[in-house]
Amino acid sequence: RRIPMVAGNWKMNFDHIEATAFVQKFAWNLKDCHFDYRKCEVALFPSFTSLRSVQVLVQADRLKINYGAQSVSVTSQGAFTGDVSADMIAALGCKYVIVGHSERRKYHPEDDANIVDQVRAVLADGMQPILCVGESYEERRQGIELDFAVGQVHDVTRDLSDEEAARMIVAYEPVWAIGTGMVATPQSAQDAAHAIRDDLTATFGPEVGEKVRILYGGSVTSKNAVELIGEPDVDGFLIGGAALDVNELTRICRET
Ligand code: 13P
Repeated sequence: RRIPMVAGNWKMNFDHIEATAFVQKFAWNLKDCHFDYRKCEVALFPSFTSLRSVQVLVQADRLKINYGAQSVSVTSQGAFTGDVSADMIAALGCKYVIVGHSERRKYHPEDDANIVDQVRAVLADGMQPILCVGESYEERRQGIELDFAVGQVHDVTRDLSDEEAARMIVAYEPVWAIGTGMVATPQSAQDAAHAIRDDLTATFGPEVGEKVRILYGGSVTSKNAVELIGEPDVDGFLIGGAALDVNELTRICRET
């Protein structure tokens, strides 16, 4: 059975002092409600500038909260001003890296080829990529949303080994649902997750298909999380706005 995951993507919010205060309060909240980390994995995705502070706090207090980066360079070192390598991220104790978020695809030159290289860089350093896919309103209007999302996963993963593919996490985040308050219905989240899982199974076999966690992202709140997590192929959430409110994020963790 796949262990569900609640992942909070802070995007460009919180400096390292705010991040530290959040993690302390979050850990306290989870302790207070006797949260069982074995039944649901929790991960936060701060800015690069906060990762070291989060690492120090997690180590000092032996917290069971995981953390990771929001993006990664495709090269390992050299003259790439402003970039951060997978080695550097791994050295900070990160377990995960978000790859190919729609905001990265939109505001930075990240295409499928670049995203494949990011996935490889993350895997090579022993971390797990959270590959973000999902259609925009236009593809949904045309009724091609499943093909679109499946195609994005397929194009990025197809050349991986079975062992590498088994370490992938996919986040289905329809672009029209991100930050809009328009959450996908449980049925359409399930349809997309199921179609993605079917494709992984066809490419890598049933063992990989059963193992890969598929998260839903896009306007998740404590009001809609219970219904969404009830779907068999939805293994948790990648959360933006609601992950900036520590009490709201705690409620979602309890419900997952
Ligand atoms: P919201 O939860 O704010 O819709 O953002 C989702 C997201 O983009 C997470 O990566």
